[in-house]
Amino acid sequence: MERKSFQLGDIVLMKKNHPCGSNEMEIIRMGMDIRIKCVGCKHSVLVPRAKFEKNMRKVLRSAAGNEEQPGGSAPTNPANQ
Ligand SMILES: [Zn+2]
Repeated sequence: MERKSFQLGDIVLMKKNHPCGSNEMEIIRMGMDIRIKCVGCKHSVLVPRAKFEKNMRKVLRSAAGNEEQPGGSAPTNPANQ
């Protein structure tokens, strides 16, 4: 099974269309439940995390830009090798 990763601010594609016709949602709150906002009509809904993961197809745009970034922003010395 594929593991889905998403984070706050991501634009995700849902399996089911919103009544307004759009199926793109923006994650605006994360927690036990996830609040998503419809990109089409700006309506927001709160869905349980499990349900969200089931209904979400994929992340269209990640807020961070990069999905996998090595943690730690300590300035390492790029010189001498
Ligand atoms: Zn909508």
